[in-house]
Amino acid sequence: MSFILGLTGGIGSGKSAASQWFETQGITVVDADIVARKVVQPGQAALAQIRQHFGDWVIQADGELDRKALREHIFKVPEARQVLEGITHPAIRQAIITQLSAATSAYAILVSPLLFETNQHLLTQRNLLIDASVELQIQRASQRDGQSIEQIEKIIQVQMSREEKLQRADDVVINDGHLDHLYSQLETLHQQYLALAHSS
Ligand code: ADP
Repeated sequence: MSFILGLTGGIGSGKSAASQWFETQGITVVDADIVARKVVQPGQAALAQIRQHFGDWVIQADGELDRKALREHIFKVPEARQVLEGITHPAIRQAIITQLSAATSAYAILVSPLLFETNQHLLTQRNLLIDASVELQIQRASQRDGQSIEQIEKIIQVQMSREEKLQRADDVVINDGHLDHLYSQLETLHQQYLALAHSS
């Protein structure tokens, strides 16, 4: 795959809505969040490494990772986050590369809420930011998954600021209107990406 587009945006900005639109155009979309969950499934090397490092208490009776226990541990021992990420990030990166290289569409997309934060943008040729006001982010995310406004605000606070993402992105779509407005902006970009992919 010679042309990979990174797609990012804060929680509730409309990344999934945009990804789904690209998928309807036949573009392969690799979702970093889904990959991140898969690499710690039972049987995966990363899960065995986590168990080896932290102890058996990180594994539930059903063999799955005990995310809640691990979260609480990291809260108490902040250095544990680096150790955990030292195991998961290379596994996620490798799985993303494998999936992107298997794509047969005109170009491929890597969608990630932490594209810049986790250096996943090093895997892409160009980056598209889906941007929306914090008010809209909160409204959409709370309507989607019933999370409290406080929870969503906390997530927004730890994500890279809109300003910083705006500086880093090559393309920006402001998702502040109807979905049709989002899709028409994506259509214009899609034509550019097809041309870029064709010439690269
Ligand atoms: P993200 O993946 O960035 O967290 P989503 O794409 O899931 O965000 O969007 C959050 C919610 O808002 C979803 O329920 C989605 O359908 C809705 N949504 C996104 N964009 C719009 C829009 N332009 N108009 C109305 N609803 C939208």
